[in-house]
Amino acid sequence: MDIIRNCREMQLRAESIRQEGRRIAFVPTMGYLHEGHLNLMREAKKLADELVVSIFVNPTQFGPGEDYEKYPRDFERDEALAKQEGVDIIFYPSVDDMYPPGYQTYVTVEEVTRNLCGMSRPVHFRGVATVCTKLFNIVKPHTAVFGKKDYQQLVTIRRMTADLNMDMEIVGVDITRESDGIAMSSRNAYLKQEEREAALSLSRGLKIAKKLYDDGERGASVIIRAVREYIESHEGTDIDYVKICDAETLEDVETLERESVIALAVRVGLPRLIDNHVFGEPLIIP
Ligand code: AMP
Repeated sequence: MDIIRNCREMQLRAESIRQEGRRIAFVPTMGYLHEGHLNLMREAKKLADELVVSIFVNPTQFGPGEDYEKYPRDFERDEALAKQEGVDIIFYPSVDDMYPPGYQTYVTVEEVTRNLCGMSRPVHFRGVATVCTKLFNIVKPHTAVFGKKDYQQLVTIRRMTADLNMDMEIVGVDITRESDGIAMSSRNAYLKQEEREAALSLSRGLKIAKKLYDDGERGASVIIRAVREYIESHEGTDIDYVKICDAETLEDVETLERESVIALAVRVGLPRLIDNHVFGEPLIIP
C-alpha cells in the first residue's frame, strides 16, 4: 500500500493507472476509520483494479464553531486498517496543498442542499461539493463510493456529477450499524457511556417510523410527531430536525406517496448525530 501526500503526485499516479487501462475505485473519508468506512472499501474493491482511499478532514465543510479542530484523527490506526482491507493507495494531503494561499473557487449545488443539514450547516455542502470535485480531479476515479448514512451528501454528489458531466459512477452503500443499532460514525467517539442510551433513540425512532409506515400510515406529520416524542423522551437529546422528504429532491412531503426518506439530526451531548431510513427498504435494528 502506498501513501501519497501530494496532489500532483496523486494525479500523475492516477493518470498512469488509467493509461494502463486499469479501473480506479475511490472512497473519500475524513479518517478515524470504522466498520462503516471499511464496508465502503470492501464494496469499492469489487468494482475496480486499484482502490484509492483519501483521508482528509476538510476545513471548508465545517462552519464556524463546529468541531473541525476537535474532529478525531489517528492516521497510524487508519493506515493499518486500510492495509488490512487491501487498499492500494491512501491519499493523505495537507490542508495547504488542497487549499493553497489565494484559493477562491467553490462548487455550489442548489436545491438538494437547502433542506435538512443544509438548514443548520449553511456552508457544509458547498465544502463537500468543492472537496469532492477537487478529489475527483486528483484521483480520477471511474467509480466513487459513498455511504447512505450521509444521505443528503450522496444525493448532492449524484446531482453534482450528473449536472457537471463528471464521467464517473457514484455508488451508495447501506448504513453500517453498531450491534445495538446506532449508525457508526467517527463522531460516536465523542459519546460518553451515559449518552449512548440517548443516542440509541435515533435508530429506535426510525424503527417506530418504519412500523407506522408498514402498518399503513402515510401522513408525514403523524410519523414525525411519533418519532419526535420518542426522541424527546430521552434525557440529553436536542433535536435539530426530524423530516420526511422526497428521496430524490429532498423537499418536505406531506404524504408518503413517492419514495420518501425520514432523516434525523439530533445533538446528544457534544456530537450532533444523523441517521435516516428510506421507507420500503430494510432496516435491521435490534
Ligand atoms: P466521513 O469520514 O464521515 O466523511 O465518511 C466517509 C464516507 O463513509 C461517507 O461516504 C460516509 O457516508 C460513509 N460512512 C460513514 N459512516 C457510515 C456508516 N455508518 N455506514 C455507511 N457509510 C458510512
